[in-house]
Amino acid sequence: MNFEYTDEQHQLRKSVREFTEREILPHVMEWDEVSRFPLETIKELGRLGLLGTIFPPELGGAGMGYIEYVIAIEELSRIDGSVGIIVAAHTSLCSNHIFLAGTEEQKKKYIPKLATGEFIGAWGLTEPGSGSDAGSARMTAVRKGDNWVLNGTKTFCTNGHYADVAVVIAVTDKTAHTHGLSAFLVDKDTKGFRPGKKENKLGLRASDTAELIFEDCVIPAENLLGKEGDGFIDAMRVLDGGRISIAALSLGMAQGAYESALKYSKQRKQFGKAISEFQAIQWKLADMATEIDAARLLTMRAASLKDNGKKSTQESSMAKLYASEVAVRCANEGVQIHGGYGFIKDYPAEKFYRDVKLCTIGEGTSEIQRLVIARQLLKD
Ligand SMILES: Cc1cc2nc3c(=O)[nH]c(=O)nc-3n(C[C@H](O)[C@H](O)[C@H](O)COP(=O)(O)OP(=O)(O)OC[C@H]3O[C@@H](n4cnc5c(N)ncnc54)[C@H](O)[C@@H]3O)c2cc1C
Repeated sequence: MNFEYTDEQHQLRKSVREFTEREILPHVMEWDEVSRFPLETIKELGRLGLLGTIFPPELGGAGMGYIEYVIAIEELSRIDGSVGIIVAAHTSLCSNHIFLAGTEEQKKKYIPKLATGEFIGAWGLTEPGSGSDAGSARMTAVRKGDNWVLNGTKTFCTNGHYADVAVVIAVTDKTAHTHGLSAFLVDKDTKGFRPGKKENKLGLRASDTAELIFEDCVIPAENLLGKEGDGFIDAMRVLDGGRISIAALSLGMAQGAYESALKYSKQRKQFGKAISEFQAIQWKLADMATEIDAARLLTMRAASLKDNGKKSTQESSMAKLYASEVAVRCANEGVQIHGGYGFIKDYPAEKFYRDVKLCTIGEGTSEIQRLVIARQLLKD
């Protein structure tokens, strides 16, 4: 067992941190206030290789692994969770579904563009009537000659309005339940496909969350992604990796909330001393630091399993469940340590408090993570 990062991993963390503090930090509150999607910054992350961390160089990726991917998402989210979720949905949902299930042609056509930021990707599993129960999706795909015809609506799709390509799951055989779902690639500007409502959100406001609407949308037969009927199974495999990215998103925001609370507690004086000298504040800081460390270890274990080609369903869910709940607790204590100043927008505490809540919901709620973990525990 090795708990040390390599020199390259330290260097990656340092360079992402320098980038986020220089290029993202000055704009965070403005982007949040007006819900501005930071397209240029995302494109720049693509040029830096941070949209293709987990893909091989021959497909335009950085040829790194999930440990490095976690480091990158954590560092982006330490400054802005919106950037973290944009990169996470793009990479481990859209691009990775193509990487895991795509044909060689599909991979060559899409991954290099997605990995370098030429394309932005979205992934649509959720529908208005099917969230946790993703297997009950209603959107349909009907084979007509050399084409598929898509009809239905996906909801809450991260990057939806900015996506050059979307991976969506639709029913191809309604008698076969989860074995009747298939995945499809839909290019922007395909007739019959358009992004719909842009959600106005509590947090992660600079990320885009959109409906994707399909009305007699005709796509060629070769846009089927993976085998017909394997869409749900492949989506679950995709989520094994995706949940590691939500754990990393949680970790980054928890770390940001903790660091700002630590700094503030040393500056703020009450009763003639820094509030960090009160034991009540020290215990909060100690709990935050300990839980963040534990969450990081769980997340890195899941990442390491992925990097070694091992199944990580249980470990990814444990990391996602624990890290997201830690992030919510840390953001809450972060506001508390700031007192009234935690409630106003001059300090980052309130934004972390709003942003972290998504982590216990997206890519499977905490309740669903417990269900996934319990199912694995009871299997043997
Ligand atoms: C900002 C944001 C970004 C998102 N990005 C994407 C994306 O890019 N692509 C995508 O496909 N989806 C995305 N989602 C959707 C997200 O994954 C779903 O919101 C989530 O899976 C929960 O589904 P739901 O909202 O329909 O809640 P529901 O499933 O309706 O759940 C409501 C409540 O019931 C509980 N519940 C449901 N079933 C059970 C059960 N069996 N046992 C116990 N409790 C249960 C849930 O835990 C929750 O507390 C995003 C959502 C948000 C808010």
